Amino acid sequence: MEKVCVALGGNAILRYKDRGTAEEQFENIRKTAEYLVRLIRDGFKIIITHGNGPQVGDILIRNERCSDILPPMPLDVLGAESQGMIGYMIQQALRNELRKVGLDIPVITIVTQVVVDKNDPAFKNPEKFVGQFYTVWEAEKMKKERGWILKDDAGRGYRRVVPSPKPIFIVEIDTIKRLYDDGVLVIAAGGGGIPVVVGEEGKLQGVEAVIDKDLSAERLATSVGADTLLILTDVEGVAINFRKPNQKFLKEMSIVQAREYLEQEQFGRGSMKPKIEAAVKFITGGGKRVIISSLEQGEKALKGEAGTLIHI
Ligand code: ADP
Ligand code: MG
Repeated sequence: MEKVCVALGGNAILRYKDRGTAEEQFENIRKTAEYLVRLIRDGFKIIITHGNGPQVGDILIRNERCSDILPPMPLDVLGAESQGMIGYMIQQALRNELRKVGLDIPVITIVTQVVVDKNDPAFKNPEKFVGQFYTVWEAEKMKKERGWILKDDAGRGYRRVVPSPKPIFIVEIDTIKRLYDDGVLVIAAGGGGIPVVVGEEGKLQGVEAVIDKDLSAERLATSVGADTLLILTDVEGVAINFRKPNQKFLKEMSIVQAREYLEQEQFGRGSMKPKIEAAVKFITGGGKRVIISSLEQGEKALKGEAGTLIHI
């Protein structure tokens, strides 16, 4: 049975045009669950991870707006909140879709911590924008009151920036693997996982950072011994000369080609680039193939009929 780690992009849960109501998210996730159940019926043994960008953004705003009446929570706690919330929705939707086709498979979400290196250079150079926009004056105030670092976001105003360190190790991996091997449908490392550092005597401590979900998906896929990492996003595949007149979507590429394209800066920073980096890492670490495709075409992509295949 081919083992597939499925990484769901933000649009599997919330689309750009959506307001972000619970109903919209449940409906998007229901469709996503329908696709995932098809993969299960096709005979793939899947494990699921997902992004949390829009949701954790909303949770942040709720925190910031209510800070005069309720103490705001640190980012690691908010990440955990988003894992629980999205995990619940996927878990329920999967159960419902599985029942429709007469499959009785247990589904579980694992609140997942991911260890990062406290000396990761990202901590000295935070560049991941999170939360709402502030004026210069508000930004100064946040800097003083909460010790945040704020930077100008493309001329649109000041925003908080947090480090995006590399994921090293999934703390709950043994349990995740045991459940997965046992046939449980596991949802793990949501939103890239909750970033933690290891202190003296192995003590874990949450940090205010955001781990890239594609890089964590690689960690998850490699750790459970997946054959395939399937990254489902909102484009049909990987293009070179993206959004230029000579744009070309690729059916396949080797990791050697992928490295060349990375050097040529062919992939958007913070969007396609981390997916390709994750792909190269997964295959270098022994994974068989990576497929990047749209959510809707995922099933076809696994059969080699859509998306972009990345191989050795
Ligand atoms: P996800 O939530 O799935 O991680 P992202 O927005 O982070 O979604 O990444 C997908 C986006 O990457 C696409 O919508 C596209 O705009 C962008 N992108 C940047 N460079 C490329 C490229 N070379 N080929 C395809 N898509 C690209
Ligand atoms: Mg992304």
